[in-house]
Amino acid sequence: MSEGLLPFALPDIGDAEISAVTEALRSGWVSSGPFVRAFEKEFAEFCGPGVETVAVNSATAGLHLALEALGIGPGMEVLVPTWTFTATAEVVRHLGADPVLVDSHPATLNLDLADADSKVTARTAAILPVHFAGQPVSPSELRSFADAHALSVVEDAAHAFPAASEGVFVGSGESAATVFSFYATKTITTGEGGMLVTRDGDIARRARCMRLHGIDRDAFDRYRSDRPAWRYNVVAPGFKYNLTDPAAAMGLVQLERAEKMRLRRGEIAAYYNESFVGAGLPLDLPGKVAWGDLHAWHLYVIRLLPDAPVTRDDFIVEMSELGVGCSVHFVPLHLQPFWRTCYDLRDGMFPVASREFERVVSLPLYSRMTDEEVRRVVEAVVEVLTR
Ligand SMILES: *Cc1c(COP(=O)(O)O)cnc(C)c1O
Repeated sequence: MSEGLLPFALPDIGDAEISAVTEALRSGWVSSGPFVRAFEKEFAEFCGPGVETVAVNSATAGLHLALEALGIGPGMEVLVPTWTFTATAEVVRHLGADPVLVDSHPATLNLDLADADSKVTARTAAILPVHFAGQPVSPSELRSFADAHALSVVEDAAHAFPAASEGVFVGSGESAATVFSFYATKTITTGEGGMLVTRDGDIARRARCMRLHGIDRDAFDRYRSDRPAWRYNVVAPGFKYNLTDPAAAMGLVQLERAEKMRLRRGEIAAYYNESFVGAGLPLDLPGKVAWGDLHAWHLYVIRLLPDAPVTRDDFIVEMSELGVGCSVHFVPLHLQPFWRTCYDLRDGMFPVASREFERVVSLPLYSRMTDEEVRRVVEAVVEVLTR
């Protein structure tokens, strides 16, 4: 194994993306323009009939805009899984509301709706589930939970493009909004970027306005309309969250390739499953995907068993010595200094997340991996766990 380090993640970018970005650059329109419009249109078509799309410069921005459009503000609480990236919770704080952290379901590491139920108060306004690793939260269970407590639902789908459960594509369901990420490591990428998807015309309108300073029409609109471009109306103190055309040009190509890339990740995940089951290693594998579900396979997360010969931290060091980059998703938010101190959180409040955090490892899983690289990962895992 002298090929050097296999990175934990790499974007899958080819000549088509490079040509598209070049075309956008040559067009002279480098902020939000025709490529953003086209990307929004194609993305909406991918999600299905009746959805509106608002392209933004990150999923974090999209989550912020969705909650803002729903009127989340001071005195309100939003249920957020502790098993997530800090962006999911920070946007709630940006609006002066409080994220209330929820423990994880042991099988999927998605948020546990039974624990969420015990944390609902008169101030709870919304729930913000994460489809961890690309395995969707059950849409029917989510819907009945939200209905029972009269909560708005905003889905953090940063890991879940494309994914489906119970016949519902993530982004095409009943939630107030669903937000995808096109960050460098995600399943499709624009470098930085995101997409807010909604069926609610009011949310789409508000998010479009707030993503560009609270101006009632964007620069491209102004450029094309009969009114002079300089005559615009500021109707709210908005944000600067618009996506650029070169990024959208790249996104259009990635979108076209999304299903092919997902199939490749699915193939790699299946190979991992088979190899590890066959080797009888001291680890738990990702749960089975229910029949008919579509897993995005953004992450492949193994969990070491107590009889593994190494700790999780040493496992990652030894994998890297064998040339394989690994990672951990996530350090739960209740273990992060800010959230821990701010809300006086203890490990015992999140027994599942606290326990599972100690034994999770994310293995490399991306469409650019060659068969040889996939085999290298398996060999390294087997070597570290059978020493
Ligand atoms: C990556 C990620 C985000 C943030 O996405 P950005 O596009 O980088 O803002 C939010 N939530 C989860 C679960 C993520 O993994």
